[in-house]
This record gives sequence, structure tokens and C-alpha cells, in this order.
Amino acid sequence: MSDTVTQSLSPIGGEFKDPGCEAVFQAERLPEKFRHIRLLFILSALLNTLFLISDWRFYGEPHFQVAFSARLTVIAIALACYFAARRATGFCQAERVMLAWEWINAIAVGFLVSSHSDLALLVVLMLPSIYYLAVPTSFRWSVASGIGCSAIMLFGYVWPEGDKSDLVGLILAMVMLNLALILVVSRSNRLGRLEWLALQAERRAKNELAESRAMFESLFRTVPLPLVVVREDGSFINFNDAAVAFFGATSQMLGIQSVREFYANPEDRDNFLSILHKEGRTVDFETTVRTADGSLRNVLIAGTKFKTGGETYIISALVDITDRKAAEERVWRAASHDPLTDLPNRALFQGRFEQALAEAQHNSHSLALLLIDLDDFKSINDALGHDAGDAFLQEMARRLRKLVSKDDTVARLGGDEFVVILHSDATPEGTLSFVKTMLEELRRPFLFKSENISGRASVGIAIYPEHDTRPSELLKDADLALYSAKAKGRNRAAIYSPEMRDTIERKVTLVREIQDAVTQNLIVPYYQPKVNLFTGDIIGFEALARWDHPTQGLLAPISFAAAFEDPELSIAVGEHMIRRVAEDIRAWREQGIMCGRIAVNLSTAQFNWVGLARRFLEIVQRAGVDPKQMEIEITETVFLGRSSLHVATVLKQFHDSGVRIALDDFGTGYASLIHLKQFPVDDIKIDQSFIRDVEHDTESAAIVNAVLELGKSLEMDVIAEGVETEGQAEFLREHGCLYAQGNLYAHPMPASEVAPFLVRGLKVAV
Ligand code: C2E
Ligand code: MG
Ligand code: MG
Repeated sequence: MSDTVTQSLSPIGGEFKDPGCEAVFQAERLPEKFRHIRLLFILSALLNTLFLISDWRFYGEPHFQVAFSARLTVIAIALACYFAARRATGFCQAERVMLAWEWINAIAVGFLVSSHSDLALLVVLMLPSIYYLAVPTSFRWSVASGIGCSAIMLFGYVWPEGDKSDLVGLILAMVMLNLALILVVSRSNRLGRLEWLALQAERRAKNELAESRAMFESLFRTVPLPLVVVREDGSFINFNDAAVAFFGATSQMLGIQSVREFYANPEDRDNFLSILHKEGRTVDFETTVRTADGSLRNVLIAGTKFKTGGETYIISALVDITDRKAAEERVWRAASHDPLTDLPNRALFQGRFEQALAEAQHNSHSLALLLIDLDDFKSINDALGHDAGDAFLQEMARRLRKLVSKDDTVARLGGDEFVVILHSDATPEGTLSFVKTMLEELRRPFLFKSENISGRASVGIAIYPEHDTRPSELLKDADLALYSAKAKGRNRAAIYSPEMRDTIERKVTLVREIQDAVTQNLIVPYYQPKVNLFTGDIIGFEALARWDHPTQGLLAPISFAAAFEDPELSIAVGEHMIRRVAEDIRAWREQGIMCGRIAVNLSTAQFNWVGLARRFLEIVQRAGVDPKQMEIEITETVFLGRSSLHVATVLKQFHDSGVRIALDDFGTGYASLIHLKQFPVDDIKIDQSFIRDVEHDTESAAIVNAVLELGKSLEMDVIAEGVETEGQAEFLREHGCLYAQGNLYAHPMPASEVAPFLVRGLKVAV
């Protein structure tokens, strides 16, 4: 018992110091007390009636009178108190009745003990004891009544004619008795109250337990989170309402015995249990459960163990994350997949590639990386529209995916570029044979709105670990191989070899050197005349780029072809050439030299630039040169690749401003006739390969003739390129070719030699 509890009791009486508390204590024991004092009064009346009957034997003796009236009084007061006690409602009233009984009873018994019988002595000692022990009054009244009763008893027994010799002994005995009884009452009071307090505390604890259990029960029932209580073996104990709603039924309704049956993968339950045993609880255990209608839901389970009645239970709370997972999946797919083909995009490919390499390294496997570029995609888009382009890409993606196994990855890197990671232990031979099948599959015609489209592709292959081990390097290797496949004429595969890297590196160095050459003005135009085969007149010149290399001397375009192929450099070199040519024309004009029309070559890469015509004309006009004095030479490759609308727009801009358009190297490309009709071409330049053998090779002669006929019928001027001999010139003249260009008349010359050349005139006779 704690100190505070004992301190709440008075040290002597053992009652509560706080009257309120004491009143509660008394009130609680009141029914018991009423029963007790009623019994006391009845016993008192009954015993004294018996004593009265027994006293009848003293009838006639002087004491009989006293005894009879005293006994009657005792009986009467006992009965009166019995009835008064029945009417009492509170402890105070009951106490008053008890006190009245005690004092009147004491006085009456005081008379009775004057008989000095042995029984009287017993009563003298017994009555105070009864008052202390059997009458439940408050401590102070117990003491007061006990002492008062003792005094009355002594007085009755000794006075008036009693034997006084024992008086001191009697008083001492009485004092001892009172003290002992006071101690007993005090102790009993204390114990009674402590017991009551303990009872109260226990009752309170029980109430609190019951309340908290009720609260937990209602919380368990009503909490909107599905909660399931099971034994360790999985057998069910309880489901809350949310769990019933979540699963769509109770376990009884479903007729299942174990929670294990809810798991879509029952072994997940074993994992859940092992975490629970190891850590005592699980926080975010993710699994899939099956509900009553058979649907699968993704859930997070937070579980904890608890023990009650010697048995271990598990309570689990479920959080349904199906919608969240679906949303996450949607977000992830949008961020990691190409929306058109639903293939992984570049970002996801990077991750998968790194992972595949790590696995290959771990398992000591090889792995192949294929970079695929669809050859004709741009023309499909241009010719058949974007719908066809999209459908084509989707079909190619589908075919690629079908070709590879489920562990392999097919991704779209963008545009018409795809990539495949082949996980199988890859050898160069095995991969090449796979790629061969793949190219055949892609080539299989694809029908789109009655159009048959055939997909041709170039493929670059790099193999881990043979070619490299780092992802970025392997990608670079595959890219170099792809570049080489394209350079070899597309529609084929190339496997990486270290020389490719050297070639590209050389190209990169070259590009850098050419850039420097442009800024240092080392790229210069050389001019080759175009002559009239019949009159010998010089009708103009073709400007041909030369690199005035500081160490290697004068270099022809074949040594710096990259300058015309690189998208950015071709624009820079092109601008530089136009500027130099325009400056030369202005200078000749200022010297009064009539140089005729000057042609400049435009590369396909340069032609891809939308602002080409505008910039060209701007430079020419700024130099004060009339665009009518200019010509552009383009090859048929300009028509491939870009949309016909773009080509038509640029050519129209040139044409409208008076710049002539010549189709260079005619006869070496494709689909020439369509282009001649479609675009505003003024001149056709027969490629020098046909001129070279024109005298001896009937096929070349036939082609030259055909082109000359074509020029006539389309009303275009035809110029023969690369005329080196008189014989060739004669042939051309005989077949009606009006113009020629070639070393027979003059090699390309620097600008400074043009004026003297024009003054000198042609050395050869025409
Ligand atoms: P192209 O436009 O067909 O130029 C004619 C080429 O034939 C020139 O070669 C010229 O030197 C060469 N040639 C002329 N007459 C004869 C001959 O009788 N016999 C032989 N064997 N060859 C002859 P070059 O200057 O080496 O130019 C090669 C190609 O480089 C040009 O072919 C043109 O396509 C391109 N090119 C030259 N300069 C430029 C330029 O400034 N821009 C662009 N984009 N391309 C240029
Ligand atoms: Mg040319
Ligand atoms: Mg040419």
C-alpha cells in the first residue's frame, strides 16, 4: 500500500481524514450495517427476554424488582431501536439510534449488574467489549460509548453497597480493556478502509479495462482500415467491418480456414511471418491478395504480434495500394516508354543496358547491342504522310519485339532509331546470323492503305566484352558500326572493329582542321570554265573548293569531303565559298572582266538547312552581285531525304531570284526523270564517268545520247563534264551537245588566273 494511501487515514482512529471520503465509505457499507444493527437489536431483545424468564426464579427477592424493570427497559429499547433503525436512511441516523441504544442499554444494564452475581461481573467486562466490537459507530463514538459504558458498569457494580476492595483492580482492568479495544477498533478501522481502498482501486482498474476494451472493440469495428486478427497458424480470429468490405465477405462466408488462402502467392505469407518473427512487426510488407470476387489487389500490410491467454496472435492492417500502383505504373510508363510504339524509351534503355551489362559481368556472359536505323523512313513520311510513318514505326517495333526473347530489350531511341540488347551468350557469328534474319523480317512488305512498304534498315553491332565493357563505349562502338553500315550503302549490318574508331577519329580531327581552315581563309575557290563546244565561247565557270593546306599543299575536295557532309560544317564552308565567289565576281566586274555565270556546288547536308536560299541570296546581294550571274549545282541526293515540299520551296526561292539550277553528276542517282519534271531545273550536267568512255563504250555513248535527247525535249541545257580529249569533244559536238567542261579546256584555276585566262582565250580549237 502506498504512503499516500496510508497518509489519508487518521493515525489513531484509522478513519479517513477527508470527511467526504469517510462518508462515501460509510454510505457504501450502510446496507451491511443496517442488517448488522437490526440483528444486534433483535438479539439483544431476544437474549434479555430469555434472561427475564430466567430471572423469574428470583421472584419475591428484593433484586427482582430492579432486574425486572431493567430487563423490560432493555427489551423495550432494543425493540424501539430495531424499528427506528428500519426507518433510518443514512449513517448519521443509524448512528444516533445505535448511540441511544448503547447509552440507555448501559444504564439499564448498570442497574442489573448491581446484583453482583458472577454473571454480573462478566457483563461488566463484556458490554463495553460489545460496544467497541459489535456496534458499528464512528471511532470517536465507539471510544466515547465504550468508556461511558465501562464507567456506568463499574458504577453499577460497585455502588452503593458493593465490595470496594476490588475497585482499583477493576478500574485498572477496565482501563486495560478499553485501551486494548481502542487499539482493536483502530486497527480494524484501518484494515477495513485499506481493504476498501484496494477494492476501489481494483474496481476502478476493472472499469478502465472494460472501458478500454469496449473502446478498442468499437475502434476495431469502425476503423476504416481493413484489420484482420489471426493465430500464428493463419486461422481466423476476427475481421473488422472494413476488412469484410475489402474482401467482400468474411472467412466463414468464403469457407476458408487460413489467411494464407487470401494471398495470391502463398509463399508471401511465409516471408511475412519470417519478417514478423525477426523484427516483431512488419511495416510495409507489399503483396497481392485475392478478394471474394476473385480480383487481385495490391496491398501494404502492417502487422504486429501480441500475446493474450498464453497464445500468440497477429493483427494486420491492410492498405489497398492497387490504384496508387496503377497510377505509378501509368506515370512510370509515360516517363519510360515511347507512346507511339510502347517500347522502352532512351532513359529506360540506359537503365536496362547498365543492368544487363552488370548481369553479363556477374554471369561471365557475353551480350550484343544492336543499333538499328530505318533507311527509308524519311521518304515514307514524305511520300505517304505521317500516318503511314507512324504505322510503319509501330509495325517495325512489333516485328523487332517478336524476334527477340522476353529477356531481351527492344527500345526506341527516337525517330527511326531502335536498339536491341541480346542477352543470350552472343558471338559475332551468331549475332550476325540473327541480324540477317531480323533484316529479312523487317524487309517483309507491310501493307498500309493498299500501299506496300518495305522496311530496310542499317544495323551497327557491338559485343560485350569483346569490343568494350563500359555502356557508353559499347554504344559508341555500335554507333560507329552503324555509321560504317550506312557508309557502305545502307540496308546492311556492320559489326564494330577498332579501325572504325580510327576512321571516325580521323574524321573528327579533319572536321576540326577544316573549321580552322575556314576561319583562316584557307578554303579558296578554284574556277573551271564551261565552254560552248561550237563557238569556243566561255559561258561561265564552276567554282570548286580547294584547301590551301599549309603543309600538304593544295587539296582537292576528296581530301576534305567531311566538310560537305557534316551538317554544321557544310553550312560554314558553303557560306565561306559563296562569300569568296561573290567577292571574286565583284572584283572581276570592277576590273571590267566579263566572267559569265559562276556556278557553286551545294551539298545535300547544306541543302537540309531551311535558311539556305535566303542566306545565299543575302550574301550575294550584299556583295553587290546580281543573282542572275549565279548558278547552283545540286546532285540528285538532295531530293532524297528531305521532304519534296522543302526542296521545292528552296529551289523556287533560287529560281525566282534568277539563280540557275543545274543537276550535277546526272545519271549516277535515282529517279532522275521525276525530279526533272517536278523541280525548276535549268541545266543537266552529264557525269564525267559517262564522258570518259563515250568514244569506245557503246553503253556510255547511249546514255550520253539519251541525256542529250532528254535535255532537248525538256528544253534544258546539257553540259558534259570531264571532257579531256578532242575525241570526246568531237563526239559531243556530233551528238548536239552544246556545252562542255573539262581539263581539255582548262584545269580549275585560282581567281587570280581567271582574268589572264579570259584575255588569253582557249588554246584548243573548237
Ligand atoms: P563536281 O561538281 O562534279 O565537279 C567537277 C569535278 O570534276 C571537279 O573535281 C573537277 O576538278 C573535276 N574535273 C573537271 N574536269 C575534269 C577532267 O577533265 N577530268 C577529270 N578527271 N576531272 C575533272 P573536284 O574539284 O575535285 O571536285 C569534286 C567534287 O567536289 C565536285 O564535283 C563537287 O561535287 C564537290 N565540290 C567541289 N567544290 C565544292 C563546294 O564548294 N561545295 C560543295 N558542296 N561541293 C564541292
Ligand atoms: Mg559541280
Ligand atoms: Mg559533277
